[in-house]
Amino acid sequence: MMLKNKRTPLESWQDSSVSPYIELKDVSKSYGSDLAIDNLSLSIYREEFFSLLGPSGCGKSTLLRVLAGFEKPSSGRVLLDGVDITHVPPFERPVNMMFQSYALFPHMTAEQNISYGLKQEGLPRDEIHYRVQEALELVQMSRFQRRKPHQLSGGQQQRIALARSLVKRPKLLLLDEPMAALDKKLREETQFELVSIQEEVGVTCLMVTHDQEEAMTMSTRMAVMDSGRIRQVATPSEIYEYPNSEYVAQFVGSINIFEGIVEEAGANHIKVFSEEAGSELYIDHSGEVPEGAQVKVAIRPEKVMMSQTPPDVEHNFTRGRVDDIAYFGDMSTYYIRLPSEKLVIATLPNLARLTERPITWEDEVYVFWRAENSIILTS
Ligand code: ADP
Repeated sequence: MMLKNKRTPLESWQDSSVSPYIELKDVSKSYGSDLAIDNLSLSIYREEFFSLLGPSGCGKSTLLRVLAGFEKPSSGRVLLDGVDITHVPPFERPVNMMFQSYALFPHMTAEQNISYGLKQEGLPRDEIHYRVQEALELVQMSRFQRRKPHQLSGGQQQRIALARSLVKRPKLLLLDEPMAALDKKLREETQFELVSIQEEVGVTCLMVTHDQEEAMTMSTRMAVMDSGRIRQVATPSEIYEYPNSEYVAQFVGSINIFEGIVEEAGANHIKVFSEEAGSELYIDHSGEVPEGAQVKVAIRPEKVMMSQTPPDVEHNFTRGRVDDIAYFGDMSTYYIRLPSEKLVIATLPNLARLTERPITWEDEVYVFWRAENSIILTS
């Protein structure tokens, strides 16, 4: 999985001298007796590309609408650059939203769609012209400015919608599933373009997506949401490597989870006996877990190794039979059934190993992994 490597002097969230740019303080939003946002607090820093990730109905769009001002929180406050905007109407907020449907006016050309908001604001003609041309150039659509939306492809319409959002120079750009209407290949290209435009303009972005890879590739940080709450906020690599719960671990990529009981809790290691793994698991970091506690040990499929001969290791290995193999060209995923019936998933790159017989269906194999690659989960 590709992770974003931002060039910006970011990591402001680790710098206590930097104030958050956007702050949600104890925000709740209820619809009747339904709580769409449940006492949520979140800080986003200037120039971040922040993503909200979570299943349908977890409150992502509601949160976006609260920031845009289309919804009033039932309680709590929203601050932008230190100013309380909780009760500021949407059109007075320095915030712009790009909708999933793009919401372009069908009877207007690309150029008219982009200039519309500036005309509404009553800006001088020269200024409007300059800013619209600048925005068209930014999204590389100058050539298509006289076309109407139906004469543009999905990707081109998306760029016009983006230009229209940026031309007003918002302090915060809200993106609601911005790639949803694009096919897979175009979506991947557009993800990179959008990030490079965002970095060029320096606008702070908050994106809603249900696509974990999209969030992982594009974000400086992301929040994984569940039922109106945030389960974890961290960088994509932290979320992937150190999920704080089974929920988060399962949400980003696939993962093997073994239930077990803590046998030994040392200062720098934990030993867990797992009946379903059929072995003793050794984790080389300590958690706040007492001996006897029930825990889950998680290990990503790409960290699982396989061999037909016994591995030269003391812990973290077990034995099973290859139940299924899925071939993906550059890699294959193996499903190994343990005597406990538990399936272990291992993802291996398809390197040509001409000296060895390849592992295939029904083979008895050892699966093993390094202690530093396993994660202990207590919730
Ligand atoms: P997501 O964007 O994560 O799919 P939403 O923010 O759209 O989730 O919805 C969160 C919860 O709030 C859902 O249970 C949804 O049914 C409810 N909800 C959202 N908007 C409204 C509304 N206008 N009226 C009533 N319930 C709503």
